[in-house]
Amino acid sequence: MNRRFLKGNSGSSCLFNNLAGSTSTKTKTLAATASSYRALGSVAAADPPKIDVSKLVIKKTKTPKRKGDLESYLFGRVMSDHMLEITWNNRTNTWTNPVISEHKPLEISPAAPCLHYGIQCFEGMKAYKDDKGTIRMFRPDMNMKRMNYSMQRLAMPSLDQEGFLECIKELVRCEGDWIPVGKGYSIYIRPTAIGISPHLGVQETEDVKLFVILSPSGPYFKSGFSPVRLFADTDNVRAWPGGAGNAKVGGNYAPSIAPARNAMIEHGCQQVLWLFGEDHEVTEVGAMNIFFVVKNKENPKVLEVITAPLSRGDILPGVTRDSILTMIKDGTMGTDVVAVEKSLPMREIVEAESDGRLVEIFGAGTAAVLQPVKGIVYQGKEINPSSGEKVGQITEVLYQKLHDIQYGVTDHPWSVSLN
Ligand SMILES: *Cc1c(COP(=O)(O)O)cnc(C)c1O
Repeated sequence: MNRRFLKGNSGSSCLFNNLAGSTSTKTKTLAATASSYRALGSVAAADPPKIDVSKLVIKKTKTPKRKGDLESYLFGRVMSDHMLEITWNNRTNTWTNPVISEHKPLEISPAAPCLHYGIQCFEGMKAYKDDKGTIRMFRPDMNMKRMNYSMQRLAMPSLDQEGFLECIKELVRCEGDWIPVGKGYSIYIRPTAIGISPHLGVQETEDVKLFVILSPSGPYFKSGFSPVRLFADTDNVRAWPGGAGNAKVGGNYAPSIAPARNAMIEHGCQQVLWLFGEDHEVTEVGAMNIFFVVKNKENPKVLEVITAPLSRGDILPGVTRDSILTMIKDGTMGTDVVAVEKSLPMREIVEAESDGRLVEIFGAGTAAVLQPVKGIVYQGKEINPSSGEKVGQITEVLYQKLHDIQYGVTDHPWSVSLN
């Protein structure tokens, strides 16, 4: 057992509180006591080994790729020229000097635990180029905190968040020419951590590789927003209290693919809405958090923007989710729009629809930013918000406000300039 990890549990709950950032005190208290975080008690190291940015080496490729027509790129299909790599070893508890070099296949042992036991976690973030050519990132500190949480869930070392982020920024600057310009265009950033010790056996990995790859991406929806239909799956469960649904670990995604394929083939739905428990409480969609815009029962002038709470530990704490909740709480949408984090059984959504109070549904995540939902197939019937096939007003306004912050149209501390 690795001694560095035996430091008591003071670190584990604040980990999560940090990530929750601007969510309410009530949620924080709940989250800190949730059993799903107790499991992390023994793995929080106070002092993460440092990643020395001053030793970063950049080896430029001699064979840069020709940049094709972005319109023909599908999400995640084209990779930029360079990648970042850093490795950690348990005996020395140090990270090697970071290296940026040609994007190329990795060489790892076929016994590496990332290939057998899913000792792997990742992040998804973007860099944008604004009208003046300035490169920007959106709340990257949130992604670093979440990556640290995911790594600790897998008994990997604590992450030097500042050091790692500096290296990522250097990679993004290096690949500046790969960042497409225009509304909805960006470069997708995929930080990844994998266990690479050359041994079989379900145990702590003794070697970790951190790598970061970049993929230029166009607007998620070529001809504006296109609302999707979701299948509320009552057979398969994505995550549960005490599980790892709140960590971005690869193991959460592989088992979701067969149910998603079934949703498409059997029900004509593009994605799965995951439920939990006998009350079929709403959790989230494959790689997006979900929001319901519902008129308040007593005062229909008030619109509640409802999403699942983090306290059960069965949803991923999305950066987009947190940004939407914070903007609403800060009054960006006016006093008649309120943010609500609560457990939401499907019957309440069915009831809201039949009362004519279900106004809009949307998903939220880095890839699509906001994804309007036109219907949810649940127990053989389809639930539709009153926005129908069109994009709802709240969805549209929130999207625009987020976009303007991300592309530096509005000045905001969430947008971090790299120049
Ligand atoms: C990444 C992800 C999200 C969205 O998180 P963002 O930080 O907003 O991109 C939501 N749910 C799941 C399961 C995810 O993997």
